Amino acid sequence: MVIDARVCVGCSACVYACKAENAVPEGYCRDWVVQETNGEFPVLFMENRSERCQHCDNAPCVTYCPTGASHYDGNGTVQINRSRCTGCKACMAACPYDARYVHPEGFIDKCSLCRHRLEKGLKTACVSICPTGSLNLVDFNNMTGEVKELIRGKEVYRQKEHAGTEPRLLWISARNKPGA
Ligand code: SF4
Repeated sequence: MVIDARVCVGCSACVYACKAENAVPEGYCRDWVVQETNGEFPVLFMENRSERCQHCDNAPCVTYCPTGASHYDGNGTVQINRSRCTGCKACMAACPYDARYVHPEGFIDKCSLCRHRLEKGLKTACVSICPTGSLNLVDFNNMTGEVKELIRGKEVYRQKEHAGTEPRLLWISARNKPGA
């Protein structure tokens, strides 16, 4: 995903769409919105951003899962096979993004990038509902002209690159906002 923090208003529509689409239990979430102030006083800017599992290319949750429940799905996503999950939480300890939670039924859960929707050619629930176009689903191996245009000349970043996880979420910083 390319997430444009310049236009995110922090409405949490993505969070509620995900909860409804994926039957996420009350009190838990697969995605969330962070509000952060950055810059140096007095030149400060506020950034809202929608966060979730980064579907890392080098995912420690997959490496440290002892049963193979966490796995690469072959379509650029990281998935969890619930029937193989023992709820041991090794993946939770390994994930630098705190992207997972223990489902009340005992297995570990996280964003699946709405795999069931992607298989039908649909966008994820969060991307579909986002009212400002902040969330963009892209194929990093085949960036279209539109996405290339979106990030051209902008300050972009990935989170915790030092962890070596090769995250597949890319943010356009709110620092690019006019006046920021
Ligand atoms: Fe695994 Fe965490 Fe990366 Fe998601 S963000 S693939 S849960 S390490």
